[in-house]
Amino acid sequence: MSQSKRIYLDHHATTPIDPRVLDPGREAAKAVETARGQIAELLGADEREIVFTSGATESDNLAIKGIVEFHRDKRDHVVTVVTEHPAVLDSCLALERAGRGTVTFLKVGADGLVNLDELRAAITDRTLLVSVMFANNEIGVIQDIPAIGALSREREVFFHSDAAQAAGKVPVDVESLLIDLLSLSAHKIYGPKGVGALYVRKRKPRVRLSPILDGGGHEGGLRSGTLNVPGIVGFGAACEVAHKEMADEAARIGKLRDRLWEGLRRDLDHLTLNGHPDRRLPGNLNVGFKFVESESLILSLGDIAVSSGAACTTAKVEPSHVLKALGLPEDVARASVRFGLGRTTTEQEIDVVIQRVVDAVRRLRKMSPLYPG
Ligand SMILES: *Cc1c(COP(=O)(O)O)cnc(C)c1O
Repeated sequence: MSQSKRIYLDHHATTPIDPRVLDPGREAAKAVETARGQIAELLGADEREIVFTSGATESDNLAIKGIVEFHRDKRDHVVTVVTEHPAVLDSCLALERAGRGTVTFLKVGADGLVNLDELRAAITDRTLLVSVMFANNEIGVIQDIPAIGALSREREVFFHSDAAQAAGKVPVDVESLLIDLLSLSAHKIYGPKGVGALYVRKRKPRVRLSPILDGGGHEGGLRSGTLNVPGIVGFGAACEVAHKEMADEAARIGKLRDRLWEGLRRDLDHLTLNGHPDRRLPGNLNVGFKFVESESLILSLGDIAVSSGAACTTAKVEPSHVLKALGLPEDVARASVRFGLGRTTTEQEIDVVIQRVVDAVRRLRKMSPLYPG
């Protein structure tokens, strides 16, 4: 009698899973693929073009270092912008420092926008990649992505965009915008922390990258490491909600943001709106309250969570690289506060904030020897 099936007599060591019991491995794999579809849908991408990562920081690193590493024998020049997130800027600086690429950092105008003629002029025969963020995390400015995509395609350079702030807030369609690589972060769109994705175009043109992590070759060899399944499932769900509600939410939040700006301007003088007045995220308002130190203002707002445009480096509080890049006078940069409105923000909250900010600014200005009154 032939015995083809292996005889298992080691049920003390472990027992085989009963097919009637849910196989969590299978369920997890299915859940990951569902999430991949939900993320692709938000971007107008194919699900095979989504690579899961630990967040937008990793996605930016993989996009920039990965593409240069793959192509650097032929082309190794990157064009990016001084107002990018540190994940992009520091990835570019790391390439330069390692002698593995060269980078041009474009300046921006007083409105925070890249000048397209300067971008065109920066592209050389060695240029491989243009990396320009979709929307800025401090001043909310939305770059002219359709024009940058068209220019990149025309000059046959790849186009990467960090869309951590834009996806789920404004329409992001990788096909019509001619984007080749796009970074996402779940926790910027009401999803869990520690998970994100990189969109990697598969066709017309196919984008080829070298991985930055070595290992088991997960995610098509682009990102080794066991997937963060709960994070990914939450990320997918967050994308689906954003996709459904984005239009209504953007309109509602945009109105609240305008109400906040109008309310502040009604009662306070010497205010500046940092960044382009219209080309901005619906939930962003970055205001300079001249004759006030933003740190003092934030302290006097107590439990209202806002952010100063400052980066705390070694002991000294410096205006952020973004506010500096706008060419703001030092006193305005030091007086700037970022208001970031979101899904749970109400009209009542905005009215409270207007009152509290107006009171605090008036009180602080009274103590300022510089305020003309
Ligand atoms: C938050 C943010 C990042 C970093 O994302 P993580 O997922 O926290 O790594 C990168 N770029 C921009 C524009 C961001 O706003």
